[in-house]
Amino acid sequence: MTNLLTIENFIDGRFVPCDHLIDSFDPSTGEVWAKVPNSSSQVVNEAVAAAKKAFISWSTTPVEQRSKILCKIADLIEENMEELAKYESKDQGKPVSLAKRVDIPRAVHNFRFFASAILHSVNKSSILEGAQAMNYTQKVPVGVAGLISPWNLPLYLLTFKLAPALATGNTVVAKPSEMTSVTAWMMAKFFNEAGLPPGVCNLVFGTGPETGAAIVQHPDVPLISFTGSTATAEKIAIACAPFCKKQSLELGGKNPSIVFEDADLNKCVPTSIRSSFANQGEVCLCSSRIFVHNKIFSEFLDKFVAETKKIKVGVPDDDSTVMGALVSKEHLAKVTGYVKLAKQEGGTIACGEGVDSPIQLPDKNKAGYFMMPTVITNVPDLGRCMQEEIFGPVVCIVPFSNEEEVIERANNVKYGLAACVWSENISRAHRVAQRLQAGTVWTNCWMVRDLNMPFGGMKASGIGREGVDDSINFFTEKKTICIKL
Ligand code: NAD
Repeated sequence: MTNLLTIENFIDGRFVPCDHLIDSFDPSTGEVWAKVPNSSSQVVNEAVAAAKKAFISWSTTPVEQRSKILCKIADLIEENMEELAKYESKDQGKPVSLAKRVDIPRAVHNFRFFASAILHSVNKSSILEGAQAMNYTQKVPVGVAGLISPWNLPLYLLTFKLAPALATGNTVVAKPSEMTSVTAWMMAKFFNEAGLPPGVCNLVFGTGPETGAAIVQHPDVPLISFTGSTATAEKIAIACAPFCKKQSLELGGKNPSIVFEDADLNKCVPTSIRSSFANQGEVCLCSSRIFVHNKIFSEFLDKFVAETKKIKVGVPDDDSTVMGALVSKEHLAKVTGYVKLAKQEGGTIACGEGVDSPIQLPDKNKAGYFMMPTVITNVPDLGRCMQEEIFGPVVCIVPFSNEEEVIERANNVKYGLAACVWSENISRAHRVAQRLQAGTVWTNCWMVRDLNMPFGGMKASGIGREGVDDSINFFTEKKTICIKL
């Protein structure tokens, strides 16, 4: 017990211990490795009060000064990259190499990007010649922003909210997932060093129903930016309704990838492997239904299965590991449950769980939450495996025969987050991309994205958009002021 890391809330520029702690597990061993606060509504009230007080001066701090502080936070994260990557992996189960290559650099980029973007944001104006008047808009920060983030890309997704919220002059009460709170707590150590005034960014740790709900329901938090599951978003939307709070909801997906007969399989197969299994398949944008044209179905499936079998599942601190452990015991049970369900739905397991020999792990990792990347075929479109978000290393691969049919089938789910189209025919790629119900459609690639572009989901995958203009708009109120000339 004495060796456990104990994390504290960060309120009004100080670390504050919490009486009520919960266990945080190392997914690669199944052992408790940290103690995390489960903050009560009283603690949330203190954080909101600090943020409300700090709003008065932060919202009027010159934008250049805010920008400099955010750049300094980015520098400090970058200087501590190695350590942050190690802890991010320990908390979440992903390979350290992935955290070092993706998660932590992206957190740095989020701060630098919005620190720069805010310097270039301009207001609109218009002269009304007939009325001899001028209209102009003013963007003002909204107030105390409540930011709630999930466990799959802990620092990456939290900072994608934090950076624009702070850059635009809001103060913040943020709650990362209770399963992956450690790197946010480590980042809080940089806030004072970077010159962020006390109370501007407060971190309260805890579970969703306790701490998260207290943030969402707080009358002095007029804006909620949430990334997580569609089921939680429903509760958040209900809690926000009486206050008409501004909301951004970035939610789950059931992303299709469509592989036409003219796809370049030398590019498509390796990228589709990555889009299915990156971060143990725990990325909201991962492909989970791959539709392959009849003519190349067998060839694609053989190649895909052969490559999947080569993926090294192993301990996260081994540089040759491609897939680490899933985030929790419960999540592992949920994901492997879908593999069992697939068989009941008439599916065939082409490789992975239940068909290949088990993963070889050192003794200390035998109770970790590991599973093999799994490929399922022959599942019906309307079955649960093809309709529900699995959010793990499981992908369904099914055949199709023509363009019209596959567009309809790809759209036939409640989600609409992302999609991929693989074809060397540029007209077809555009035509299909335009008809897919998805916030982002990648053609002949995956996960390539400019932060200047809008990002978000359609249908049950969410409301609101992130990205430069969208985030700045979301975190500000636009007023129109009219002056008679
Ligand atoms: P989750 O909804 O269980 O939890 C997300 C966050 O909400 C956590 O911090 C949790 O503590 C909090 N929370 C839970 N109940 C709450 C409540 N009643 N009130 C306030 N806060 C509450 O989701 P998760 O399991 O952490 O994350 C996985 C989900 O996130 C998947 O569905 C995935 O697709 C989605 N996701 C979406 C995106 C995107 O950009 N669209 C990105 C990453 C993850």
